This record gives sequence, C-alpha cells and structure tokens, in this order.
Amino acid sequence: MSNLVFGPITSRRFGQSLGIDLSPNTKQCNFDCLYCELKASKPITTQIDSPKVEEIVDEVKKALKKFTNLDVITLTANGEPTLYPYLKELIHELQTIKEDTKLLILSNGSTCRNVAESLMDLDIVKFSLDCASEKCFKKIDRPVKGLHVEKIIKSIKEFRQQFKGELVLEVLVVKGINDNQEEFALLKEVFRSINPSRIDLGTIDRPPAYKVEGVSIEKLKNLANLLEGLPVSIAYKREYIEKRREFTKEEILNTLDKRPQSFDDVKYSFSSNSQKLLKELINCNKVEIVNIAGVNFYKLAKKTLDKA
Ligand code: SF4
Repeated sequence: MSNLVFGPITSRRFGQSLGIDLSPNTKQCNFDCLYCELKASKPITTQIDSPKVEEIVDEVKKALKKFTNLDVITLTANGEPTLYPYLKELIHELQTIKEDTKLLILSNGSTCRNVAESLMDLDIVKFSLDCASEKCFKKIDRPVKGLHVEKIIKSIKEFRQQFKGELVLEVLVVKGINDNQEEFALLKEVFRSINPSRIDLGTIDRPPAYKVEGVSIEKLKNLANLLEGLPVSIAYKREYIEKRREFTKEEILNTLDKRPQSFDDVKYSFSSNSQKLLKELINCNKVEIVNIAGVNFYKLAKKTLDKA
C-alpha cells in the first residue's frame, strides 16, 4: 500500500478504520499544538505539498477490494486535513465508492467556515476544541496568526445547525493548562450551545512535541463530571487499572441522569454486581443503549426521563 492510505486500524472510538493521509510527506498544519504527536513546526495557512485526488481514490479502491467490514474511511493528515486544496472533489469521489462505509474527517475545526460546504457530505465530522477561552486556546493550540477561538466556536455552531451527520468534539486535556473548573465551565456552555453528538475527552499518551504532561484518568473522570448532561466518552489508557465500585439501581439511574456512561465507563467503574443491576434496568426499559458515531452509551430511557 502507498503512503496515502493506511490501516485498517482498530479505533476504539470509530471502529475499523481505513485511513487516508492528505499530507503524507511532511507536516502541514495551521496549529502547532503543545501535545502534537508530530514534531513541532511553524503553523501555515496553505497546504503546498498535496497528493492528487486520482492517486488517493485509486489507492482507496484497491484497499476496499482487499479489506471488508470497515466501519469508517478516515480523512486525516500529518497536520490539518482540511488544508487539502481538493477536499470537495475528493469527498465527492469517495462518496461514489465507499458503499456502506461511513466517511469521517479528523480536523482541528479551525477552517470550519471555509470548508463547511465540503464537510456537509461526510457522515461523521470530528473537530478538536481544547479550550473555550482565547488565552487557553493560544497556549495549547498555538494557531497561525488570525485564528480566534470565539470565531471558530461560532462557525462550528453554524455548521452544526446544517449538518445532518454526527458531530464529535474532542478535548485533549493538558496538565496545568485546560484541566481546571473555569475552562470546563466555559466548555460546558459552548458544548450546550453547539449540541454535538458526542464529546471525546482524552489526554496525552504519546510523546508530545513540547514538554507537557497529560492528566490521570481519575482527573479526566472528574472533568467529565463537570460536563453534566452531555454525552462524554473518556479515552481510557490501555494500562488503566480498573477501579470498580458497587452501585445500587437508584445510584445507577442518578449517574445516568447526570451523564450517559460509555461501555468503557461501565467496564472500568462498575462492579460485576452493578453491571448485573444495569442489565436489569435495561430489561425493564428504564435504561437504553445508544450508539453515537461508533461508541455505545447507556442512557436513561425516554420514559424514565419523562417521569423524573
Ligand atoms: S492540529 Fe493536530 S496535527 Fe496540527 S499541531 Fe495540533 S495535534 Fe498536530
């Protein structure tokens, strides 16, 4: 396979994913995030080194013949994939060959306004949104001059109103920068106004471009609890040691009332007896399972919510 297409890889968040790299030769990004897994580099506004649409489509066709049962074809890049100048044309071509597989993009969200029309044709759009305050945004994401988080949030909000697919927002938590109540109070308001399908909460788990650290899973859980009522999916590290607790049925319902729990949340935090009680709540239709862009959540069933 060429360096344009990679995988399939198993993504815990999106399932079996065939990746497309829209900047295979060099990093091209309009951010220079502290936590970037690629090397630090000066942010740019325009992609210069761009593969041809036909080359990408040919490689995807070959891969689709070879690999079946894919959940998503993921547009990604060494950098920001929406800087790819032929994005609209590429998405159009991929739509004609993808069959049942969903099309997903992993973007930092900063160009949302410029590329909104192209992104409308995708099934899932994932934007990063690490901070809601300008100070924090500048500190973590180190964007190219002229990008402001308030404008980005506004354009994501407008995009959401038109977009028929699933919108996922991701927060990457960096120790000592956006891991505080103030930033999460702002984020909560912003998330409520955008109304994303899902919010992914993660932290640094690979060597970052700059000297920064991630936070513990316990900290992520505490921060997730500040986003009350929102569908938050925590990225558990593989080496995370389960801290399972006993819950009564009432406690389970209360927890789900505050925030839907992902299958991973339950796996890592509920004792086996609590998991049994949860099953009983499902059987009596008080709790239901919903799949949001590839992640399963337990949430209160509508009739339980109506009674509350
Ligand atoms: S947006 Fe992504 S690729 Fe760009 S600097 Fe940040 S982490 Fe790296």
